Amino acid sequence: MTKPNQPISGNDLARFSGPSTFMRLPQAASLDGLDVAFVGIPMDIGTSWRSGTRFGPRQIRAESAMIRPYHIQTGAAPFDSLNMADIGDLAINTFSLADSLRIIAESYDAILKHSVVPVALGGDHSITLPILRAIARKHGPVALVHIDAHADVNDEMFGEKETHGTVFRRAYEEGLIDPEHTYQVGLRGTGYLATDFSEPQSWGFQIWQAPDLWHRSLAGLGAEIRRDIGNRPTYVTYDIDSLDPAYAPGTGTPEIGGLTTAQAMELIRGLRGLNIIGCDMVEVSPPYDTTGNTALTAANLVFELLCVLPGVTYR
Ligand code: MN
Ligand code: MN
Repeated sequence: MTKPNQPISGNDLARFSGPSTFMRLPQAASLDGLDVAFVGIPMDIGTSWRSGTRFGPRQIRAESAMIRPYHIQTGAAPFDSLNMADIGDLAINTFSLADSLRIIAESYDAILKHSVVPVALGGDHSITLPILRAIARKHGPVALVHIDAHADVNDEMFGEKETHGTVFRRAYEEGLIDPEHTYQVGLRGTGYLATDFSEPQSWGFQIWQAPDLWHRSLAGLGAEIRRDIGNRPTYVTYDIDSLDPAYAPGTGTPEIGGLTTAQAMELIRGLRGLNIIGCDMVEVSPPYDTTGNTALTAANLVFELLCVLPGVTYR
């Protein structure tokens, strides 16, 4: 058996050079033999406030050059056992949101013909609906772990049914997710209606609002969610605005009083053992990321997600 693809080491080639792929992994034209594929979805036309997430994939990849392959704290060695590559960006239609969502769904249908875990680098959160449509065609309704400041369950925005703020109402209506195994973590902020969070709870969603998590370790929460899900196929969607704007200011719709970076890491580490069949990192907006910390944090949280994928070796 050949060794899985390895990221280029910062000791072999200066971090500021080499391919602009996630962790400077090989860029792959084919999905054959891959266990994990990174896919950029450079899109911000589903956004309601600040734009800029079209630059997210490129900047997350750039900051990922800093990451080393072994997770010292948990022992995870994701590149020892899983073969990963970056398959580049989807050719979305930046002049049409509807066409872009169609392109994403069709691209995912093709990707999911292979036994590969796609890791999407967004892009605004509207990308997750077509991803879930393709995922559900393959796996049926999936369990969903959704970390976000927002529930993203509006019925419509400006009369539009498909936006970054309507994703999980559509996913629920279309039967793409199992509402009894849908977990929303980090919600906060003001509402359009007083019922913005209680309505999804009435569908079965379990919600942890950020203020209920302040000053707490989230290690137990991750484990609680994992136990509740069991071995169901699970999709994890990570909206970077779940973090407090102090940690992740570079995003389109920031809300104060969010999670800390440490809490996000604890939460993801607690998901180890889940049957994760896909995940995404969305809403990183580099034009508002004046320090670069948002993309850096997003890249590292993607690494944390890699470390809890099925089949990862621990040392
Ligand atoms: Mn969102
Ligand atoms: Mn959000």
